[in-house]
Amino acid sequence: MKRVGFVGLGLMGGPMAANVVHGGFPLTAFNRSSAKAEPLRALGAKLAATPRDVAAASDVVICMLTDAAAVHNVLTGEYGLLAGGRKGMTLIDMSTVAPEQSRDTAAGIAGYGWEMLDAPVFGSTGPAREGKLGIMVGGEAALFEEHRDLLATMGTIILHLGPQGSGALAKLCFNLMVAAQVGSLAEAMTLAAKGGVSLEAMGTIIKSSPIVSNLIERKIGNIVAGDYAPAFPLKHLHKDLGLMTDTAREIGAQLPVTEALYALCSEAMARGLGDLDSAALYRQLASMAGLE
Ligand code: NAP
Repeated sequence: MKRVGFVGLGLMGGPMAANVVHGGFPLTAFNRSSAKAEPLRALGAKLAATPRDVAAASDVVICMLTDAAAVHNVLTGEYGLLAGGRKGMTLIDMSTVAPEQSRDTAAGIAGYGWEMLDAPVFGSTGPAREGKLGIMVGGEAALFEEHRDLLATMGTIILHLGPQGSGALAKLCFNLMVAAQVGSLAEAMTLAAKGGVSLEAMGTIIKSSPIVSNLIERKIGNIVAGDYAPAFPLKHLHKDLGLMTDTAREIGAQLPVTEALYALCSEAMARGLGDLDSAALYRQLASMAGLE
């Protein structure tokens, strides 16, 4: 049985790592804030003091981190993964990063004899807990096949999409639609409230109609209750919108709606809404409309 390392035990990485353990893989895990790693110990995982110790105890290492800068941070330096690893190891980066960033990481670790898959996910904290994420994979097909069993502990829809960076690109396309749906819901609710239709009534109308989705239903719940406990934090939506617009510019695609959402999300970040759920885009628009 291959030995698995896991770095990044946040909202998503914590439950994903737990499912790797439930799937029967020996796991060694690390999180920068050590308290978040403790629940894994109770499940039988080993906790490491540094990413270097994770690599030393593993054959394949999964990262589930905020962004490419965080991935670079855990890979490099005296206590980084590369310092503890060996030729022939695999990095599976499940963080949401840009395709170009993913290719840069792969090129950087290739010099140490590491191979890499980019394998970002769709589905939020619920599917992460249930092991029902969608996993979009880029990299060598043979490497994907080698690690399909490991990915299957965390997800039910697992697609190999092509060379390095393909998973990252598909994830950005997917999140583009998440952003548009959350943004259009926030605008609809703002227009309703400003014009005198209650949030509850508008929420009921949307939920009763064919335009509802699991995502929209959850975000209506956030807005109506005024409860923005983060499942998908606004700061991550903001980061992803930046990656989408950068990637579009690099490859020559036009994303005018996404550009506008990025500007709106940047304003929400400047107001300090980043740690709230992405449904707090409503709070930004409500404030701009003089509703709060
Ligand atoms: P999160 O709860 O904020 O967790 C982020 C993780 O990255 C934490 O373990 C954090 O460590 C670690 N980290 C950040 N900067 C670091 C650094 N410089 N060095 C070392 N560790 C660092 O985020 P999340 O919701 O789990 O999301 C993780 C990734 O999945 C992101 O790329 C996000 O866009 C993507 N994603 C999220 C969702 C969702 O619904 N939440 C869905 C799909 C994909 P600390 O605990 O010490 O801060």
